[in-house]
Amino acid sequence: MFTEQEQMVRLSRILSGAIRINTVSRDETPVSSKSREEILAFMRQSFPSVFAGASMIAEDWPNALHLVWKTVVENPDKPVAFLAHLDTVAADNGDSWYYQPFLGYVDNDGFVNGRGALDMKGHAVALFAAVTKLMESCFKPSVDVHIICGLDEEIGGEGVKAVVRRLVDQGVNFRSVIDEGSFIVQGIMPGVEPPVALIGMAEKRIAVVRVSVKGEAGHASMPPDDPVIAVLAQAIVRLNAKPMKLVVDDTAAAMFQAIAPTLSMPKQLVFRYPKLFSWVLTNAMNKSPKARASLRSTWAPTVIGGGSKVNVLPGEAWTLYNLRIHPRDSLDDVVNAMQTAIDDDRVIVEVVSGPRDPKSKGKVGDLNGPTFLRVQTIVREFFPEALVVPSLIPATTDSRHFEELADEVIKFQPVVLAGKDISMIHGVNERISMEALAKMADFFTRLIMELVA
Ligand SMILES: [Zn+2]
Repeated sequence: MFTEQEQMVRLSRILSGAIRINTVSRDETPVSSKSREEILAFMRQSFPSVFAGASMIAEDWPNALHLVWKTVVENPDKPVAFLAHLDTVAADNGDSWYYQPFLGYVDNDGFVNGRGALDMKGHAVALFAAVTKLMESCFKPSVDVHIICGLDEEIGGEGVKAVVRRLVDQGVNFRSVIDEGSFIVQGIMPGVEPPVALIGMAEKRIAVVRVSVKGEAGHASMPPDDPVIAVLAQAIVRLNAKPMKLVVDDTAAAMFQAIAPTLSMPKQLVFRYPKLFSWVLTNAMNKSPKARASLRSTWAPTVIGGGSKVNVLPGEAWTLYNLRIHPRDSLDDVVNAMQTAIDDDRVIVEVVSGPRDPKSKGKVGDLNGPTFLRVQTIVREFFPEALVVPSLIPATTDSRHFEELADEVIKFQPVVLAGKDISMIHGVNERISMEALAKMADFFTRLIMELVA
């Protein structure tokens, strides 16, 4: 066993080593098999107890490591799963970092610097450290504990999808799944002083929709009344003018209510009764693209095409829309809303990719679920100054693949970030303090104990 100080130094050295192994995922160049070997060997060497104490289910599967710490209980209840990914996004603008992004430099202020410090090699190191500690203290889980690490999360998560397919085949269902998601943030909500622990209860799903107009190709010298580009342009303008309605649903209401006590009157009253005053809240949130995105499904035009020659009218013009579907909507709901906004039969709206079942809705965690309540209690214990606030996370995570086979999926990383720190994720100067890393390990130790004692 290590003293607290020794543990802090030890974990930061491990994280520093993990950062030095470049595991950048890009669509065109996924993590190479060499880097994959290297990071897995590194984890094995850094956390020998975990690899000795858990059964290795798959290391050879493309891009995912899957370990199971088996219970000795007969006929155990449903297992729990902890997810992490060991790949990172790129750090192309390395020159604008204080310290080179793949150096894993530990600075004099006690921070481990580098790509993946937060997203999410730090989280993975803390998780493995927690399991190590429990195994070495002879803790026996009452259910199986799965540890699943993707190596291609940043480019779609095929590795974890393969793990999920296998679990589905075996009929495994989870009681709790814990993954990255939100953080404990400070100073990003106007008027809210204390840090806010945003516990991710749901995430948006992604789809791509092609909006196009077909017509007769012809010579530019004799334009018709409705050239395809003009019709498409009108559709784009209408889509922009008529986004979906902002709605304060149960998750949003719970978020406002959790913040209410920190506010002064009359603001406090509005937050305490968010559904009653939903028009006040939606008007205020509508001013910020970030805030309002949490209250509705969105569509954004990202790619456009049509025409290739300056004197020829094209026979088709098209735009691709990136959809972020709020859990209360189905893909069909959003496509219908797009068609209603466009209000023009000449415009074709087709789904390119998206949720398998276009009628399905997203999964939102239960605010009275035992996993959420446990996480809430432990957050309050570890971060007594923080408000616990259930939230919808803006990004997508590997845990979305578990929604069908888990009672509860919680997306949360127990690390405090000040307002500007959020931009480090996928940005420059990503770092975590040695103290926060050790605290995260203690948090996971406690959480595993609470979930599987
Ligand atoms: Zn991540």
